[in-house]
Amino acid sequence: MASAAADKQRTKFTLDERDIPAKWYNIQADFKTPAPPVLHPGTGQPIGPADLAPLFPMELIKQEVGTDRWVEIPDAVRDVYRLWRPSPLFRARRLEKTIGTPARIYYKYEGVSPAGSHKPNTAVAQAYYNKKEGVTRLSTETGAGQWGSALAFASQLFGLQCKVYMVKVSYQQKPYRRIMMETWGAQVVASPSTDTQAGKKVLDQDVNSPGSLGIAISEAVEDAATRDDTKYSLGSVLNHVLMHQTIIGLETKKQLEKADDEADIVIACAGGGSNFAGLSFPFAADKLTGKKKKLRLIAVEPSACPSLTKGTYTYDFGDTVGMTPLVKMHTLGHGFIPAPLHAGGLRYHGMAPLVCKLYDEGVIEAVAVPQIATFQAAMQFARSEGVIPAPEAAHAIRVVIDEAERCKKEGKRKTIVFNLSGHGHFDLGAYEQFLAGKLQDYEYPAEKIAEALRGVPQVKV
Ligand SMILES: *Cc1c(COP(=O)(O)O)cnc(C)c1O
Repeated sequence: MASAAADKQRTKFTLDERDIPAKWYNIQADFKTPAPPVLHPGTGQPIGPADLAPLFPMELIKQEVGTDRWVEIPDAVRDVYRLWRPSPLFRARRLEKTIGTPARIYYKYEGVSPAGSHKPNTAVAQAYYNKKEGVTRLSTETGAGQWGSALAFASQLFGLQCKVYMVKVSYQQKPYRRIMMETWGAQVVASPSTDTQAGKKVLDQDVNSPGSLGIAISEAVEDAATRDDTKYSLGSVLNHVLMHQTIIGLETKKQLEKADDEADIVIACAGGGSNFAGLSFPFAADKLTGKKKKLRLIAVEPSACPSLTKGTYTYDFGDTVGMTPLVKMHTLGHGFIPAPLHAGGLRYHGMAPLVCKLYDEGVIEAVAVPQIATFQAAMQFARSEGVIPAPEAAHAIRVVIDEAERCKKEGKRKTIVFNLSGHGHFDLGAYEQFLAGKLQDYEYPAEKIAEALRGVPQVKV
């Protein structure tokens, strides 16, 4: 067909608004064995919907445990998605040329959302279901502010109040994302704050506490648990969050069809696992159902926080403080505190349980890469393709370039697809350090991990 031939020359593969998928994909439908249950930390027994009801709306709890393959995306959610979706798929022709690889490289660009990352894909859905069930206010935590800004945006569009507990060091050192959140109408406080008992307790011991994600989570959860009008919202890790993100991979598959191409290798960075799952799960479906056995799916993590590649697959707390239910995942130990990596979104001690199950079963691969090599990849990408990637996404780019180099050596024409999960416009401080030669690599923290793993609870299942 003439149009297909013409399409092969294209750089950008766009879809019409009508092509925004009507359903999310639930990978649990294609598992041969069910996902391990989530356990109550006190009793060690599987938790039920009632245990989660104070924190989440019922529809999201249903999605968390549901096994239907397809879940309808509500019209009101698709209407908001229209503001930036379908997001473009690019052929990275200039990057291919600088590498001199016979491989074809494509990237799905999620930085076109108002908040600049993939996170609004789930923030919008979560705000919608909360609104529908009569909730008027959401609480959450944020580190550097990527998740907080996504939820602030989504809350504003659905007329919900939004309270964000932002880790104090970031609050002080990274004001721009806070200003974004406030522009979208959220109330942002530095955590630890005097607004919660958890925050007060920390401040009583140390008025100058710089805060941590663990403390901020405790504050946000307490806020939701103690108010009738408020529920809690999480930006990664949970099954329903990963499912909302599958819109990325579903669009990508349609776009590759337009490009008359098929993926051989699918790559994304993994912090909590949501953007990796979002791109890769619809492809993993073809692997699980035996349609594409040779397809490679690669999650990329920092070597300073290597939960998949160096963690233990066991039950652990989801938060650093040890308040949440126990989930089975690859963990470095909930007490593990990674080095202050510039990819703030990749510093989680564990990994989404659904991603971990696939890794344990050998369906997906994982690679850990160091910080400096990651920024070198980010530079090569920015200087060929233009977009300045978020440091998180640059981890994926590192492995994309490595795989493309391998194709060059072996003379193979593979098709590589990766998720450019966000732009790096708020991370220029990190780029400044890299350009000044001041960025450092962190050793693999074997001892710290061993120590943190000793704190993992013993669970008999
Ligand atoms: C938060 C974030 C990540 C990491 O989170 P996942 O849940 O693993 O996707 C990656 N990239 C960007 C741009 C982010 O904002």
